[in-house]
Amino acid sequence: MSAKSVVYFYDQDVGNFHYGPGHPMKPHRIALTHSLVLHYGLHKKMKVYKPYRATFHDMCRFHSDEYIDFLRRVTPLNVQNYTKSLTHYNVGEDCPVFDGMFDFCSLYTGASLEGAVKLNNEHCDIAVNWSGGLHHAKKFEASGFCYVNDIVIAILELLKYHPRVLYIDIDIHHGDGVQEAFYLTDRVMTVSFHKYGNLFFPGTGDMYEIGADSGRHYSVNVPLKEGIDDESYMSVFKPVISSVIEFYRPTCVVLQCGADSLGGDRLGCFNLSVTGHGECVQVVKDFGLPMLVLGGGGYTKKNVARCWTYETAVLLNEQISNELPYNEYLEYFAPDFSLHPDISTKQENLNTKQYLETIRIATYENLKNLTFAPSVQMHDVPPDLCLENTEEGDPDIRPTDEEMDKRVEPANEFYDGDKDNDKENDGYLDV
Ligand SMILES: [Zn+2]
Repeated sequence: MSAKSVVYFYDQDVGNFHYGPGHPMKPHRIALTHSLVLHYGLHKKMKVYKPYRATFHDMCRFHSDEYIDFLRRVTPLNVQNYTKSLTHYNVGEDCPVFDGMFDFCSLYTGASLEGAVKLNNEHCDIAVNWSGGLHHAKKFEASGFCYVNDIVIAILELLKYHPRVLYIDIDIHHGDGVQEAFYLTDRVMTVSFHKYGNLFFPGTGDMYEIGADSGRHYSVNVPLKEGIDDESYMSVFKPVISSVIEFYRPTCVVLQCGADSLGGDRLGCFNLSVTGHGECVQVVKDFGLPMLVLGGGGYTKKNVARCWTYETAVLLNEQISNELPYNEYLEYFAPDFSLHPDISTKQENLNTKQYLETIRIATYENLKNLTFAPSVQMHDVPPDLCLENTEEGDPDIRPTDEEMDKRVEPANEFYDGDKDNDKENDGYLDV
């Protein structure tokens, strides 16, 4: 297997955001992951960048101007003036207003967007942003701890160069925001593996959701039951992904690696090991397509860090020791201090062989209906997004704040919220 060139985005500010006391989403898991990545020496095998920060205009390529304007203005100090808007934009409970909320969005979205630009310019084969992957955010509202949908925004950028983008989601929750955005188009195929049933969040992702209009058969859903282990998961993941790639012929892949599908997750109920989760990354990587690799859910912090560190190594074709290197967060990994502790739970695997076989067959039947590698005429391609400080350089040297400030706001826009979206009242994109 030839070595791929990997770029990795990290901003040291990301770990300092807090959703609030008791909230399960902890941005600090990204700092934990990064510390392991550094102490394993993985940064020496890839280019590490402090990411671009997404602007208001970047975010409005998918979201409505009013919603992003609200995110930009609301703070914990003035929140009482926005009671109506909070309900309207679904902000407050799962998606609280916290200090620096807009900066946080701008940071994780900027990294995904810059990853897409680097893939488009062939500056790398694989781009990694563990702070991204916030798949639930909708055009007009926040949802499930997600405010801005960095995935949709990055895919829009990829579509400037790529006729067909494959989106794969292994978070335990359905990738509803991304599916909805591209539900009517064959330019993006979305494939989500998730827990479905018994009112599990967000409630969508039945296998009969297959897309509509030009997008019919280009949404694939693999609904699973609780307790799924590595072997069962692989028995559907591998064949589904192989057939999807064979039929669809994507020119690049976006992989959302939500780590709440691991055993012992605070909110999840699957039973994957770090190795099993990482095998999904390996399977996708082995197709040799350009890849944007993103984070997502994951609420048992220490296991999220283990998982994404291991997956960084998988992407780099590096073998790393099971014994964790010394690092400033070592106490989090007690008592075993290892990369692959047994995290399986006693949760019974409710996915019978027969059930998994049924899903596999249904998915395959569905794929037979889609047009083989649909082609698009790539006219009207909007100009490249110009991000400054994307020049290749010493990966260990990050730009100074002054250099960051010099970054120009992109002059071009793919979508102008006011004018060009003829489906004003829904969340579907016309691509
Ligand atoms: Zn999730």
